[in-house]
Amino acid sequence: MNGSDEAESLDLYEVLGIESSATKVEIKKAYHKAALSSHPDKVPEDEREEAENRFKNVSQAYEVLYDDEKRARYDRFGVSDFTAGRGMGGMGGDVDLEEMLSQMFGMGGMGGFPGMGPMPRGTDGRKQKGKDVVQQYEVSLEELYKGKTVKLASTRNILCSLCKGSGGKDKAKAKKCATCSGRGWNQNLRQVGRGIVTQENVICVPCKGSGNVFRDKDRCKKCKGNCVVEEKKVLEIYIPRGSKEGDKIVLQGEADEVPDHETGDIIFLLEEKDHDLFSRAGSDLTASLRISLAEALTGFSRVVLKHLDGRGIQITHPKGNILRPGQVLKVEGEGMPHKKGDGKGDLFLVIDIEFPKDGWVPDVDGIRKVLPEWTGEEIQAEQVDDVTFDPDGDIEDVSLQ
Ligand SMILES: [Zn+2]
Ligand SMILES: [Zn+2]
Repeated sequence: MNGSDEAESLDLYEVLGIESSATKVEIKKAYHKAALSSHPDKVPEDEREEAENRFKNVSQAYEVLYDDEKRARYDRFGVSDFTAGRGMGGMGGDVDLEEMLSQMFGMGGMGGFPGMGPMPRGTDGRKQKGKDVVQQYEVSLEELYKGKTVKLASTRNILCSLCKGSGGKDKAKAKKCATCSGRGWNQNLRQVGRGIVTQENVICVPCKGSGNVFRDKDRCKKCKGNCVVEEKKVLEIYIPRGSKEGDKIVLQGEADEVPDHETGDIIFLLEEKDHDLFSRAGSDLTASLRISLAEALTGFSRVVLKHLDGRGIQITHPKGNILRPGQVLKVEGEGMPHKKGDGKGDLFLVIDIEFPKDGWVPDVDGIRKVLPEWTGEEIQAEQVDDVTFDPDGDIEDVSLQ
């Protein structure tokens, strides 16, 4: 799809993750949160472009929704009202003209554009490839760490063994399909946008793309002229250890068989489930390591987490070395396995200190005596105000204006 289609279907409330009844305070909060998480400077190099687009969308959504007048206009007319006059930032901008043309005029070949339908059969005599089937497959981080073999039941069409996919009885002669004049496809006009109509080639229904039809009495008894029959089988897919989100596992030639076509593939697109403990970045893992205040100050030695393969990971931190909030312990070679070779990435443990709860009344004087004194400089001021404060302030309330 091209950029302007995307802009037209863009839901600004969805961009900010809020209800359409959101108040201005909620809009501001949502914007602050979304802007922080999608800021291009905060993501790895390879995600930057996507983050930039997201960031632009978030900024645009805020600009429109935070302004009462613009918001009312958006609620009535949608985004297109803004795209026409003043542009919606980067949303309609980065359209690859060549790609757009190839999509609009059907030069993109097979499989590229849903709904395009088949192209006329190639003149070079090569069999055209049937449709690939792309399926999302959700995997846990544990499964990606260890690798996994999955068996799946599949039902697909295969060429009828009796007529070998012709659809007709032995020695029966097919006649040319009248609907498509034997071409196997028909031309259709399709509207892809306001005022834009494209031509597409769709498979001819009566002859199913073969260009030939059999008379009723000449149809194959097994497939009833359908050329194909259903086959059930068990597919096995192997997910190599170290695989990641977006990796493809291709089962060649396992899609539906279609007469006169090279059989398409079934493609599993891996989707990585979020993990409670670990976050993954490439082959590295990060996890939060929660320790007590006493451990932070006096050291410890214990199993701090269970790794993805079930092993306990023990950390020994010696007395005399203080651990501070946000400090990172890098454990080399305990990240995700690389797909090639035996290596592994690294594990980064981010220290999170569990401070005592309110109401904890220790031997205050005793603690003061053993802990170091405040070493900062005393501030000199002519006037001093003793202020009150809310101990549960929210940094997201910081004004954006
Ligand atoms: Zn048959
Ligand atoms: Zn036809």
